[in-house]
Amino acid sequence: MSGDAGCTTLSDAWAFAVLVWQTLTLTHPFVGDLVDGGEPELEEEAFAGRLPWVRHSTDARNVCTSGLPPELVLAGRLIELARRTFEEGVTDRQRRPGVAEWVDRLHAAADQTVACPGCAGTYFVTEAACPWCDDPRPSVVPVRIERWHPGKGLIEGAVRLGQLPLTAEGLVLRLRITRGVPGVTGRQPHLELRLVERGIQVRTMPGFEARVAPIARAHEEQHLVSGRGRVVPANGWMVLFEEPGQPQRVAVLGRRA
Ligand SMILES: [Zn+2]
Repeated sequence: MSGDAGCTTLSDAWAFAVLVWQTLTLTHPFVGDLVDGGEPELEEEAFAGRLPWVRHSTDARNVCTSGLPPELVLAGRLIELARRTFEEGVTDRQRRPGVAEWVDRLHAAADQTVACPGCAGTYFVTEAACPWCDDPRPSVVPVRIERWHPGKGLIEGAVRLGQLPLTAEGLVLRLRITRGVPGVTGRQPHLELRLVERGIQVRTMPGFEARVAPIARAHEEQHLVSGRGRVVPANGWMVLFEEPGQPQRVAVLGRRA
């Protein structure tokens, strides 16, 4: 847009960041109130990155009061990626986060959302009520992804892999979560969790297996799960994603009990 460099993966990273911002906030990252109400030529300046972006940390000339609030639709870490792109990355292209980093962060943010039973919109589980229709947040059973080692059990103090909210809508765990598989392959669903009357139903997708075990006796008692599904108590159980003889990621369901 500025005409001073060619198309590279770094200009792609810029374009991707603009698309993310525009898709989620419904506004262009450089079209703030200044540009919106200004001459058409100002828009060209904005698209070329010669004006501050709408959330510039020190220059508030082009703040944006329209669209959706970025805090509601982008997690803090996504706003930070945008800042690196649209502030430091304007002149120093090398400082723009790559598309892969965006994809990781977008997935991580989406994992922290719940669907509203009232309006079907989604929002971050940290909100007490739906920001779109004010319905209270549905109740959530936490599903913690942790590391497990045969002989040692759950590895305390390991790098936090995250916690996902299980609601009445159910929760699909993909290879990205269950085995840390990157890229498009990681989007393949491995298994599904569903809240049922007697606890949580664990059901695997065709071609996949998993095991469930009570956390306190995981070495002695494991049950194979298939596509037919198996119901376990809502607390104190975990799901093993691999053969039980190897170290792996597991999902700890509910409270530890
Ligand atoms: Zn709602």
